[in-house]
Amino acid sequence: MDFERNLDKYAELAVKVGVNIQPGQELLVRSPIECAPFVRKVVKHAYDTGAKNVYIEWSDEECTLIRYLNAPEEVFNEYPKWTADQYVDIAKKGGAFLSIHAANPDLLKDVDPQRVANYQKASGLALKEWRSYTLSDKCKWSIVSIPTEAWAKKVFPDVSSEEAIDKLWEAIFKCSRVDGQDPIEAWNKHNEDLKLRMDFLNNKNFKTLKFKSEKTDLTMELPEGHIWLSGASVDPNGVKFNPNIPTEEVFCLPHKFKVNGIVYSTKPLVYGGNVIDNFSLTFKDGRIVEFTAEKGYDTLEKLISTDEGSHYLGEVALVPFKSPISDTNIVFFNTLYDENASCHFAIGSAYKTCIKDGDNIKDEDLDKYGINDSLTHVDFMIGSPDMNIIGETYNGETIQIFKDGNWAF
Ligand code: ZN
Ligand code: ZN
Repeated sequence: MDFERNLDKYAELAVKVGVNIQPGQELLVRSPIECAPFVRKVVKHAYDTGAKNVYIEWSDEECTLIRYLNAPEEVFNEYPKWTADQYVDIAKKGGAFLSIHAANPDLLKDVDPQRVANYQKASGLALKEWRSYTLSDKCKWSIVSIPTEAWAKKVFPDVSSEEAIDKLWEAIFKCSRVDGQDPIEAWNKHNEDLKLRMDFLNNKNFKTLKFKSEKTDLTMELPEGHIWLSGASVDPNGVKFNPNIPTEEVFCLPHKFKVNGIVYSTKPLVYGGNVIDNFSLTFKDGRIVEFTAEKGYDTLEKLISTDEGSHYLGEVALVPFKSPISDTNIVFFNTLYDENASCHFAIGSAYKTCIKDGDNIKDEDLDKYGINDSLTHVDFMIGSPDMNIIGETYNGETIQIFKDGNWAF
């Protein structure tokens, strides 16, 4: 009974806080077929809230794998235009997008990594126009996660499938603040807490951030006019929505050409159905000039060589080591969860919303402002209990932002 009630509250949260559906609005839900019981509840809440039409795009990992192993080579260099057109069409009409992220982290481990990389690139190109809507909050979008058997077993390998799924649900309800009396109220409060951190960082207008832990030693400048964001975003109609449930990050963009030093990953990164782990990136004038990886080196190499922009960073996000997600002590092998348990950077494009008037900056001027652009945007985790972050303002004042993994103020 408790589970059913939590599942329903979670679906309501995705509709009302995640994409915050407004009367008359359309919604596209993209989900694995295994998550259908949750999606049905989402659909019900969406119509109850006044949605005009709810479309569902189902996927199935087993079919995805069969395709990767058996389809002809050229298939992976193309992405169906009609799929991309449909997303743009919905976005243009002011529709919202809810994605259920529940990937098996090892799904494509036996697939030729070149096929995976080709398809990532083809989809990145085909979806560029649609992503220009989500990257600039021109439409409302949100991501939530639901346990599937394959994912749960990766997180909890030592227990039965049933127990693994139960444990993962418990963690998801807790981290998403669904298990309390009133999740929607809890999220309003959480968004306010995040805003305090965000306002502090924006008021200080730091010029430089220095990241230092036992292994990481990196300095980055933030571009002029940068804006720290967190929690709820706002669409062009002024309607708030939460792109990620859960979220603990306060994020911004580094100056594309002003990142120097070395950074070490502190959690595994799942990319394109493969796990990359214990890796480091070395930057010179913003560009990745060297990298190592104990696991998934080839996948990391393919990610970095997606295009020119994937050699640079597009996001810096601050997340305290002490948060509901990291308190679970679970490695989720799911970026939505792991990125919100750890400070992280992203390889690839920056959010234009992170810079003043970013929306009006033309593509050819992005470099001038220090804004990175790429077909990809992949977060990777760098936070650790010994991470210290020092900010330096334009008038030379230095302020400790993180001390031993947590907010210093
Ligand atoms: Zn992030
Ligand atoms: Zn990101």
